[in-house]
Amino acid sequence: MLEIRELTLPIGHTDAELRQAAAAAIGTHPEGIGSLTIWKRAIDARKRDRVSFNYTVHVDAEPGTTIRNKAHVGPAPDRIYRELDGLRSGNREKDARPVIVGLGPCGLFAGLVLARMGFAPRIFERGKAAGPRARDVTGFWRRGVEFNPESNVQFGEGGAGTFSDGKLYTQTKDREHRRPWILHELVAAGAPEDILLKARPHIGTDRLIKVVRHLREEIIALGGEVHFESRVDAVLLDANRQVQGIRLANGDTIETRNLVLAIGHSARETFSMIHASGVFIEPKAFSIGVRIEHPQSMIDRAQYGRFTGLPELGSAPYKFVQHLGARRSAYSFCMCPGGLVVASSSEPGGVVTNGMSSYARAEANANSGFMIDVLPEDFCATDANPLAGIAFQRKWEKRAFEVGGGDYKAPAQKLGDLMRRKASRNFGDVVPSYEPGVVPANLDDCLPQFVTNSLRKAVSGVDKKLKGFALPDAVVTGVETRSSSPIRITRDPASLQSVNTPGLYPAGEGAGYAGGIISAAIDGMRVAEQIVRSMQ
Ligand SMILES: Cc1cc2nc3c(=O)[nH]c(=O)nc-3n(C[C@H](O)[C@H](O)[C@H](O)COP(=O)(O)OP(=O)(O)OC[C@H]3O[C@@H](n4cnc5c(N)ncnc54)[C@H](O)[C@@H]3O)c2cc1C
Repeated sequence: MLEIRELTLPIGHTDAELRQAAAAAIGTHPEGIGSLTIWKRAIDARKRDRVSFNYTVHVDAEPGTTIRNKAHVGPAPDRIYRELDGLRSGNREKDARPVIVGLGPCGLFAGLVLARMGFAPRIFERGKAAGPRARDVTGFWRRGVEFNPESNVQFGEGGAGTFSDGKLYTQTKDREHRRPWILHELVAAGAPEDILLKARPHIGTDRLIKVVRHLREEIIALGGEVHFESRVDAVLLDANRQVQGIRLANGDTIETRNLVLAIGHSARETFSMIHASGVFIEPKAFSIGVRIEHPQSMIDRAQYGRFTGLPELGSAPYKFVQHLGARRSAYSFCMCPGGLVVASSSEPGGVVTNGMSSYARAEANANSGFMIDVLPEDFCATDANPLAGIAFQRKWEKRAFEVGGGDYKAPAQKLGDLMRRKASRNFGDVVPSYEPGVVPANLDDCLPQFVTNSLRKAVSGVDKKLKGFALPDAVVTGVETRSSSPIRITRDPASLQSVNTPGLYPAGEGAGYAGGIISAAIDGMRVAEQIVRSMQ
C-alpha cells in the first residue's frame, strides 16, 4: 500500500480524475491501481483564483511500480494506536478503581480507555447529563431559565466542548496515533463520517450532544460509573500526600489511589481547593479579548473568491496571528463559521463570550475570539498567589456584566467605534448574534487598556491578510476571558502525576496540558494509559 500526498485537484473533480492523478503520481495508468482510499482532504485556498482540494490517498499499486516523486509518495504508514497492546486488563474485583473528576473530552476519553481496559472507572461530574444540561443552557440564553452555576456552557456532560463548533484539529504532536482513534470512536458514537477524511473536521453542537451521551453509555456498559450533579469538593491525602480519595459536595467520600483531575479551565473553586490542599500549581499566560462578528458571506468572498457558495466548500474559516512587538500578539481563537456568539459564564454576575456552530454552519455571521496575550506580570502573579489570573479574569467579567446592564446582556460595539474610542449607540449591517442579547457600549469600559489598544493596533494588519476584517460595522462583543487555563497543575513528565501529590493525575485543559477538544482527549488517554501501566 502506498501513500500519495499533495495531490491537487480542482473543486468539482470526479472520482476518475482523482484516480488518474494518483496513477500519474506513481507513474502508472489508472487500471494499475487497485483500491484507493482517501486518507485526508484539505481545502487549499492560499490562491483565491485557484481554490482546490489537496488529497492524501492510499492506493494498492501493481507490484514493481517505480516511485518517481519520492517526496510525496512512500509506503503507507499504518497509523494504528498501539499504546495498550500487551498490557494486562483490569480485574474489577481485585484492582482499585480509578476515579475521574470531570466529564469533558479529557475525562470522557480517559474513562473510555480505562473502561475498555477493564478498570471500571468511577466518574464524577458536577454538571448535568447532556439532555437536561441543554435545556438549562438554551433556557438561559433565551431568558426562560435562571443562570445555573452548576449547569452551563462550561459545566456538564461533554464539558466545555459540548456547546461548541466541535472543531477537531490540533497542533499537538500525535506520534502514537491517538487522534485517528478518537475520530473513529466519535464516528462510532454518532459523529458524521466526514470527520475521518476532512483536514479540518468539525461536529457542531447539534450532533455533539448525542455523541457525548453515547460515549458515556459505552463507559457504563463496560462496567464504569458516571455520576452527574456530583461536585468534588475535597481531595483526601495521607501523611505522605498520597491520594486516598475524594469528598463530594453532599459529604460522601469515595476511596481511590488513582485520581484523574480533568476539571477544565473554569473550575475556579476546585483550583482554590487543591491549592489550599498544598497541591503544587503555578500561574501561566492566557489571553483576553472580544468575539468579533462579520457577515459570513464577506468572509467566504475574502477566502474563496469566485468559488464562494460552492456546497463542497461550505462556510469559510479563517485564522490569523498579528505580532505586536516582542511581548504580545493578537490572534483569532476558536473561529466559528456560520455560528453564534454565546453566553459562556460559569459564575453568577459575570459575562463571558465564546462561539459555537451547528453542523451545517448556516448562520449569517462568522465569529471568532479576537484575543490578546496576557502574561503573569499583567496580573501580578507570585509564587504565593498562583491564582491571581483567576482574579484578573473575574474582574473583567464582572465589569462586562455591569456595563451590559447587570442582566447577563453583553456589552457590544461596532468595530469602527472601537477604533475611534467611541461608545456605540446602535448596530449597522451586522446584527449581533449573542444570546441573551447585547447592549451597545464602549468596550474600553470593560477591558484593560493594553488589550483594547492592542486590538486597535492589530486591525489594519489583519485586514491586509483577510480582506474586510476592518469592516466598521463588524461587531465586537465582550468579554472573552476563558480561552485557556490561567494556571498549571504541574506534573512529573514521566509519571504524569502531580509533582508533589502521588496518585493525582492532573489532565486536560484545566491542568494546563491541553487546549481544545482533541488535545484534551489525547491528554486524557495518555493519563489513562499511564494508570494502566502503573497497575501491571
Ligand atoms: C463555547 C465553546 C466553544 C468551543 N469550541 C471549541 C472547538 O470548536 N474546538 C475545540 O477544540 N475546542 C473548543 N472549545 C474548547 C474546548 O471545549 C476545551 O478545550 C475542552 O472542552 C477542554 O476539555 P477538558 O476535558 O480538559 O475540560 P472541560 O471540557 O472544561 O471539562 C471539565 C469538566 O469538569 C467538570 N468539573 C469541574 N470541576 C469539577 C468538580 N469539582 N467536580 C466534578 N466535576 C467538575 C466540569 O463540569 C466540566 O464538565 C470551546 C469551548 C467553549 C466554551
